[in-house]
Amino acid sequence: MGYLKDRHGLTLPDEVPPGVCPMCAGTHEPHEPHDQQSLAYQYKFYDLHGRWPTWADAMAHCPDGLKASWAEALKSLGISVDEQSETATMTVEITPE
Ligand SMILES: [Zn+2]
Repeated sequence: MGYLKDRHGLTLPDEVPPGVCPMCAGTHEPHEPHDQQSLAYQYKFYDLHGRWPTWADAMAHCPDGLKASWAEALKSLGISVDEQSETATMTVEITPE
């Protein structure tokens, strides 16, 4: 991590409750998208990549079929997920309670 500290002098608390995703602090399976609307996710992502996350980023680690179904569901809500994520190689490990 570093963009928040380098650019803004801000250090993020890195802890989340047990059993939740360490990136978005949400409750989802590891193969499911992060909560792109979560402030925890948005700030952690910004700290890692120097920009705010998109839905493509939030689901970059998901299997292709799941990405397609999420993209379709988001499209029905008027949210386009056409762009390619630059973070497709990111992995997240969720520690059980
Ligand atoms: Zn998550």
